[in-house]
Amino acid sequence: MDDDIPYLLLTPGPLTTSRTVRRAMLQDWCTWDDDYHALVEEIRRRIASIATDRDDFTVVPMQGSGTFSVEAAIGTLVPEAGRLLVASNGAYGRRIVQIAERLGIDCVELAHPETEPVAADRVSDALRRDPGLSHVAVVHCETTTGMLNDVTAVGGAVETRGRTLIVDAMSSFGGLPFTLEGIRADALVSSANKCISGVPGFGFVVVRRALLEGCEGRSRSLSLDLFDQWRTMEQEAGKWRFTSPTHTVRAFLQALRELEAEGGVAARHARYVENQRRLVEGLEAIGFCTLLPRAHQSPFITAFVHPADPGFRFSELYAALKRRRFVIYPGKVSDADTFRVGTIGHVFPEDIDELVDAFAGAVREIGVRLP
Ligand SMILES: *Cc1c(COP(=O)(O)O)cnc(C)c1O
Repeated sequence: MDDDIPYLLLTPGPLTTSRTVRRAMLQDWCTWDDDYHALVEEIRRRIASIATDRDDFTVVPMQGSGTFSVEAAIGTLVPEAGRLLVASNGAYGRRIVQIAERLGIDCVELAHPETEPVAADRVSDALRRDPGLSHVAVVHCETTTGMLNDVTAVGGAVETRGRTLIVDAMSSFGGLPFTLEGIRADALVSSANKCISGVPGFGFVVVRRALLEGCEGRSRSLSLDLFDQWRTMEQEAGKWRFTSPTHTVRAFLQALRELEAEGGVAARHARYVENQRRLVEGLEAIGFCTLLPRAHQSPFITAFVHPADPGFRFSELYAALKRRRFVIYPGKVSDADTFRVGTIGHVFPEDIDELVDAFAGAVREIGVRLP
């Protein structure tokens, strides 16, 4: 852990960034000339090269947290006469349903238990039974539980039935090697402050250009109009339609360069896998249990079940860990008490070893009995 930070964030966004990413924010930028626009265009190129091997996709950054980009994608890509199927198994899937309902989009939720992956055959069945369903949305890594949904299987089902697929890959993009064409997605949404390890402030949508070209005037929102945002960025080569989150943009470019220097997405994925392996082995040795079986578990965030000891208080564990300079995440699962530990960001296997030691110390300090 860098000694100039108060604690390591083991939370999946905002997360711990490198000192060099933080340092990249020490300049103020003018946003209307070529120097700044070139940074934005480099970001769009780099995201595209991670997301696809083809040239029929385009990248549209959007101000705000990740949800703003999800809302921009849903509100711009689904036409008035469309109907959206959301295959959900957690809070972020449900959030897409909420977005659609707020926007007045006809929406059907195909809900799954939070501890089970989204089933491609159920998606296929729903599409067969309801020909009016034009679009499907699914979350890749459901950050609620850490579940990694098989989006390739879902994408295959959606493609076979000739519908459009929008993937919330917020917490997986840049941390797991895959391409849009590989998972048969038409659009993907992610943000600056997840696996690519930038700071919060904007998200981005990678979308099939031909699909976006047909979306003029369709957005239910002015500021979240993905088409208008894209047109401005294309026409003026890197200009954001409204005030650009300059410092965040510059930090994100640095984060993308550092991702490449690390060896790209495959190398980063390997680090996250090792982080998560050490976390689970270490905490299991202390007596904690994961919510999910290993087969469904992503390397990005892991949910642990609260210990059975009736004296256990998450707030005490949290405080004891924070005193040891580690910050973890409360749970979000609706029918189980859990806490979550993220393993993404500028966090390395040695940090995880220290975290496991901190857990052992914290458990002794607060006097929790573990099996
Ligand atoms: C982080 C995240 C989001 C976006 O959350 P914000 O708080 O708006 O950044 C959306 N979906 C998933 C799966 C996420 O992990």
